[in-house]
Amino acid sequence: MTGSRLEELAANLEDVRARIESAARAVGRDPAEITLVVVTKTWPATDVRLLATLGITDVAENRDQEARPKHEACADLGLRWHFIGQLQRNKARSVASYADVVESVDRAELVPALDHAATALGRRVDVLLQVDLADPPQPGRGGVIPAEVAALAELVLAAESLRLAGVMAVAPLDGAPRLAFDRLVSLAATVRGHGPGPWAISAGMSGDLEEAVASGATHVRVGSAVLGGRALLR
Ligand SMILES: *Cc1c(COP(=O)(O)O)cnc(C)c1O
Repeated sequence: MTGSRLEELAANLEDVRARIESAARAVGRDPAEITLVVVTKTWPATDVRLLATLGITDVAENRDQEARPKHEACADLGLRWHFIGQLQRNKARSVASYADVVESVDRAELVPALDHAATALGRRVDVLLQVDLADPPQPGRGGVIPAEVAALAELVLAAESLRLAGVMAVAPLDGAPRLAFDRLVSLAATVRGHGPGPWAISAGMSGDLEEAVASGATHVRVGSAVLGGRALLR
């Protein structure tokens, strides 16, 4: 059983890596600049283990109550854990205990909550600002509006235990992902002026990773194309 799941994941990963590679080559980018973050939400810790044996270094989860035990079960693997879900302030402490990267910081109140938690735990946490690329904004899907990104960036820069590490977005429901991702990339350039260090542009999922790579994404977050459809499990 595990053998066949391993083969399935290996084949899916091969497909996804080939998609990233050809999307990168098509625009003259080095595929090595792009990190594949596998979104393991709804899938068991055993799958995370298989992914680690297949060379995956970064995984992402969107719900604290699912992520926390999964991280615990996989703590020996040395993976980088990304939190990509809408974050409640009262979950900041828990998330800061295992997340290496919180990609979904989209409002001011989360910054001191994460920072105090990280400081108390003696951890450093990378923060990406999640941007709402819909025009007009789509409240409820998460993301800070572009006009408020700079102010949110200042708060993260002033935090003791957080590092401003980039931006993240999900393509708007309507319309062209490529245009939205292009806007994310130009917005990222304005924020980047505020701080040093490696810089992430996290954009693109199973359905639109080519557009994200074409726009300049450094991280793609891919779930179903690697692990299979989630609908059956929900
Ligand atoms: C679930 C999820 C993904 C992955 O989506 P797929 O379509 O399964 O690749 C990426 N980003 C976020 C924020 C998600 O919640």
